Amino acid sequence: MDEKLLLELYVNRKLSTREIAAIMGVNQTTVARQLRKAGIPARPKTENKMPTPKGGRHSWGPAISAANKGNPRVGRANAGKRGPDAPNWKGGEVLDDSGHIRVWDPDRRRYVPRAHLVWLAANPGEVVGRGNVIHHIDENKLNDVPENLAKLTIAAHIRLHRARQSSSSEGS
Ligand SMILES: [Zn+2]
Repeated sequence: MDEKLLLELYVNRKLSTREIAAIMGVNQTTVARQLRKAGIPARPKTENKMPTPKGGRHSWGPAISAANKGNPRVGRANAGKRGPDAPNWKGGEVLDDSGHIRVWDPDRRRYVPRAHLVWLAANPGEVVGRGNVIHHIDENKLNDVPENLAKLTIAAHIRLHRARQSSSSEGS
């Protein structure tokens, strides 16, 4: 088992042992045993998951301010001309069809997921890469703060969401 990933998920990302087990494709007991071996104390269930920050503006990081000049406003992307050339240009942010916020990237001249830019700014030198997704830990797609974002493979992402579904339907 990749101990670095285990610590990242459990300590930094505050995922539960159940979620980590789903991501790594092992059972929950194995995760718990590995945590004990690594000397990581078990955490009460109530402290799992990152809290959703309430209200206020976040500091998105330099990548965001650069990509997000003008008058930030959430709205629909213009189907015709895009970006500052569009007749209804209202600023650098749009809400895409999947419910994620995209920001105008002046270099690539297209809208890119804000979560990706935030994650990239928080992880210098890394790339999102093909086959990976940036997951929202609290499942709030609008909560694009670094501590709420985690890079996962598509397969691990699917397993994680399945694990979350089954744990919420258990009601424990
Ligand atoms: Zn997700």
